[in-house]
Amino acid sequence: MRNTFLVFGNPQIEEDEIREVVDCLRSGWISTGPRVAQFEELFKAYIGSKHALALNSCTAGLHLSMIVAGLKPGDEVITTPMTFAATANAILHTGASPVFVDIELSSMTIDPGLIEEKLSPKTKAILPVHLCGRPCNMDRIMEITKKHNLLVIEDAAHAIETEYKGKKIGTIGDMTVFSFYVTKNLVTGEGGMVTTDNDEYAEKIQTYGLHGMSKGAWRRYSDEGFKHYQIIFPGFKYNMMDIQAALGIHQLKRLEAGLARREKIWKRYDEAFKDLPLVTPAPPEKNTRHARHLYTILVKLEDVKADRDTIQQALHEENIGTGIHYISLHLHEYYRERYGFKPDDFPKALYVSERTISLPLSTKLTDDDVQDVIDAVRKVMDRYSR
Ligand SMILES: *Cc1c(COP(=O)(O)O)cnc(C)c1O
Repeated sequence: MRNTFLVFGNPQIEEDEIREVVDCLRSGWISTGPRVAQFEELFKAYIGSKHALALNSCTAGLHLSMIVAGLKPGDEVITTPMTFAATANAILHTGASPVFVDIELSSMTIDPGLIEEKLSPKTKAILPVHLCGRPCNMDRIMEITKKHNLLVIEDAAHAIETEYKGKKIGTIGDMTVFSFYVTKNLVTGEGGMVTTDNDEYAEKIQTYGLHGMSKGAWRRYSDEGFKHYQIIFPGFKYNMMDIQAALGIHQLKRLEAGLARREKIWKRYDEAFKDLPLVTPAPPEKNTRHARHLYTILVKLEDVKADRDTIQQALHEENIGTGIHYISLHLHEYYRERYGFKPDDFPKALYVSERTISLPLSTKLTDDDVQDVIDAVRKVMDRYSR
C-alpha cells in the first residue's frame, strides 16, 4: 500500500500565480483593485456572459443572488437536497424557504419531472445545482420557469467548464454562481463569481457586495482623485481581493488542460472498477460537457458486507483521502427539525447519501497516485464483497 496519505482535493498551484501574488503584494494594492477587474474580464470572456462579478465566495454570490432576486420572508425557492449546505442556507438567509425536489438517480441532479408538483403561489425561483460538473436538464427547467414566470439561479460551484447543448453554464439562467474554493476546478483559496446578462442584477451584485456603496467605490483612493460615495443599500463585505484574483488569472488559463487531465483519470477509474460491486458515474448526457469535478462511486450495499462509512474508513487506512458529496440536506439536523423531514421523503437523495464516496481527482495526481487509488479501491471492495 501507499506510504504517504493522498489528500482529497489537493489544489494545483504553479509558479505563474505565485509570482503574480508576490507582484500583487509588492504593488500595495492587495484588496479589490485592478487584478479583480482583470480576472472578471477574463472569466466573462471564458464563459461568454455579459457580466462577471467577483466575490469572496460562491456562498456570498448565492446570498446576493437571492437578495437581487427580491426574495422576501415566506417566499419559496425550488432546489435539490443533494448539494452542499451553502445552496439552501443562502435561501434561508433571506427569510425564504428552500423547497426540496428529489434527484434523478443516474444524473444525481434535480428531477425536473417532480418540480411542478412542488410549485406554489410563493415560489419565486428555481436553484438547480450542476452536481459533480454534470449539467442539469436545463431545457426542462427553463421551460418550467418560463411557464410559471420564475427566476433561475444556478449553483455552478462544480461546473466552470460545463456546457449544455452548445451553451456554457453561466449563460443560461438569470444568474449563475461559481466557486473557487480550494477543492474546486479553479482555486483562489476562497472566492466566487456571479455571471449574468442582466445589467440591473450585475449592478446590484457589485454594489450590495461592497456595503451598498455607490458604483466604483474601490477607485476612490486612486490617482483619479478622491471620490465621495453614497450608501444606497445596507450591503455586505463580500468583495474579492486582488491577492485572490492573482491566483485566478493564471488558474483560468489552465482550466482546459486541467479538464483534459481529469478526463484521463476518469477513464482509468471507469475501466478499473467495472467488475466491482459499485456504480461508477453515468456517462455525460448527449450534447453536454461534463466538468469532471467529482468522481463519485456508489457502493452497492446489497453486494457488500459493510456500510459506506466502513469502506471509506478502510480507504483512509490505505492512505487514500476521499470525500462525501453529499449527505442529503433533508437528513441534516436543522432541516430535518425545521421542516419535519423523514429520510424517505426524498428516496433517491437518501439512496445516494448512504452509498456515495468521492475519489481523488485533482490535476495534481500523478499516474502512480491514480494507480494507488485504483489498487486501494479494488483491495477494499474485494475484502468486503459478498
Ligand atoms: C463549494 C460549494 C459551494 C460553496 O462555495 P464557497 O465558494 O465555498 O462558498 C456551494 N455549492 C456547492 C454545490 C459547492 O460544492
